[in-house]
Amino acid sequence: MSTVSDYFSSKVFDDRVMRATLSADVYASLRKTIDEGKELDISVANAVAEAMKNWAVENGATHFTHWFQPLTGITAEKHDSFIAPSPDGSVIMEFKGKELIKGEPDASSFPSGGLRATFEARGYTAWDPTSYAFLKGKTLCIPTAFCSYGGHALDKKTPLLRSMEVLSKQALRILRLFGNNTAKRVVSSVGPEQEYFLISKEMYDQRPDLRFTGRTLFGARPPKGQELDDHYFGVIKPGVTAFMEDLNDELWKLGILAKTEHNEVAPAQHELAPIYSTTNVATDHNQLTMEIMQKVAARHGLVCLLHEKPFAGVNGSGKHNNWSIATDEGQNLLSPGDTPYENAQFLLFLCAVIKAVDDYQDLLRISVATAGNDHRLGANEAPPAVISIFLGDELNAVLEAIETETPYQGTQKMQMKLGVDVLPKFNRDTTDRNRTSPFAFTGNKFEFRMLGSSNSIACANIMLNSAVAESLRIYADRLEKAEDFETALHEMIKKTIKDHRRIIFNGNGYDEHWIAEATEKRGLLNYRTTADCMPHLMDEKNVKMLTSLGVFTVDELKSRRDIMLENYCKSVLIEANTMINMVHKRIAPAITRFTADLAKEAAEKKALLPDLACSYETKLIARLSALTDQIAEKTAILSEAVHGLQSAGDILEEAALIRDTVLPGMSELRIPCDEAEILTAKSYWPFPTYGDILFSVR
Ligand code: ADP
Ligand code: MG
Repeated sequence: MSTVSDYFSSKVFDDRVMRATLSADVYASLRKTIDEGKELDISVANAVAEAMKNWAVENGATHFTHWFQPLTGITAEKHDSFIAPSPDGSVIMEFKGKELIKGEPDASSFPSGGLRATFEARGYTAWDPTSYAFLKGKTLCIPTAFCSYGGHALDKKTPLLRSMEVLSKQALRILRLFGNNTAKRVVSSVGPEQEYFLISKEMYDQRPDLRFTGRTLFGARPPKGQELDDHYFGVIKPGVTAFMEDLNDELWKLGILAKTEHNEVAPAQHELAPIYSTTNVATDHNQLTMEIMQKVAARHGLVCLLHEKPFAGVNGSGKHNNWSIATDEGQNLLSPGDTPYENAQFLLFLCAVIKAVDDYQDLLRISVATAGNDHRLGANEAPPAVISIFLGDELNAVLEAIETETPYQGTQKMQMKLGVDVLPKFNRDTTDRNRTSPFAFTGNKFEFRMLGSSNSIACANIMLNSAVAESLRIYADRLEKAEDFETALHEMIKKTIKDHRRIIFNGNGYDEHWIAEATEKRGLLNYRTTADCMPHLMDEKNVKMLTSLGVFTVDELKSRRDIMLENYCKSVLIEANTMINMVHKRIAPAITRFTADLAKEAAEKKALLPDLACSYETKLIARLSALTDQIAEKTAILSEAVHGLQSAGDILEEAALIRDTVLPGMSELRIPCDEAEILTAKSYWPFPTYGDILFSVR
């Protein structure tokens, strides 16, 4: 039997394969491109393409595709076969350097937010050699960026790579000031923890809401939900174990470092965490993980739900973005060091993050905004929509001591003079687990917890990398000119703590008093919905930061805002229409049939025994009839709201109408429907209930 190490990365054209199949010269040039971003020579590209194709064909491939991440949120691919005709009527398998480097998908239907006029509808894809090519079925997938002919980014990868570049550049400036002249790059890395639900396909197929929208739009609370907390870290059921084993195999073959898996809080909810990798690779791997989860689930008669809130009243699913920055020499810049100098450097990077998160709270909120995630944030199950940072008591005390120039009252009492005194050693394990903070320091990394389970992690990391790069740029500008580096450093750290103290909160993020304090006393932002936050992408300070760093152009930002708002409107509209449809076609007829049968039976009883009150039937009929009337009335109101969207002048207005009329209309309609579900006999109800679905996997 083969072991994991035998087949790990067997479907990846990784460094091992490159080394084995490329000549030493070609390998060295390619490595330079991968590690240092050096441009690739066409002769090298030809040699790489040839080796890649041979490896792929030997492993059963017939096609290749440029694999990219358009703004729809999923990945896209268009397959071309390797075959080329030969004069003798046979075919040869061919793949040229130029096909590797650049592709031209007919991609006119991908959202471009007005960036791509029809005359240049094709756009192009460009090879990203920093993420390895891999095999999916019989297709060689080449990770690529996707741009318009005008050079505008039409995907998530392009700005992500740009943000990594600017972060590296600014962080290196700081490192040089601390005397590090050897590091060549600074890389941000991410370990995304992915939550999901697994339910039976049989149940899924019977629910139009799940099939059309990924979440249930109706459904009364089951008698047993997550009250007992007996699912979290509980014994994994055999059906789920079989799925996880199969999933791990598939992920490992693709070189994805799937590491931990466990049951989550809600019934049928689980989590998978990989070992962290470079942001770009982690993003590609997370997209692949989500895709493969769904494929493997199908093989097991299951459906994997990645929606942020598949079931009302039951915890939703998120994604924790564990983020840190390190040098190419392996020094984690968010890890306290052993010497005074290293500690001062650590505190400066820490301050850069604190400043970035406070200055760009809105961008971080925007980076996780979708209609689905709006249901989670602030619902006492996920961090609130208000962003704050958790540092832990010890680190907080250190910062306080610096800010107030008072002795630090830790294990040893001492005055803090940066760059001179040794910082007290923080024991990593003392960063007590605060699970309610949106942005928590966990010893040597930050955990950004607001991402929704279906979000691409690209967006959050683009904003994080850029905002931190901006802090570092400001610091470097100042420190490079300073007459006395140590004094300037000390003053700057002190000033940052003073200016940005409001963003630090070590208490319970789920507490409602916190929201009041955060918004009223501290002036932190609280954007509850996508419609609230998304317009702020175009706020002057945000546009200025992102364009001056070169991460986005103004046009790219505007197009992204419009596309995100369009996605929001479209997904809610589909939900509203699905609700209306389910009411008319299934729910109302089911209640009517049940009440009619009840009435018939009561009448029959009364015919037999005229003295009977039949109060059970009568009351039930009365209540269900009243509910049916409410349902009819509320369906009409919702239809009206949907109709009203036509009056919106632009996408901003439409999103506001979705938030103010359509979503409330949906919540209102749900109430009588869910009550009717409870009162209607099971054999009449047209869909499986929450209880049926949540406990469907054995
Ligand atoms: P915790 O128990 O604090 O959540 P884990 O060690 O389980 O920490 O890690 C959670 C996630 O964070 C994993 O995906 C892990 O690979 C990732 N991680 C650990 N160290 C780093 C780092 N330096 N940078 C980015 N991610 C990291
Ligand atoms: Mg975690």
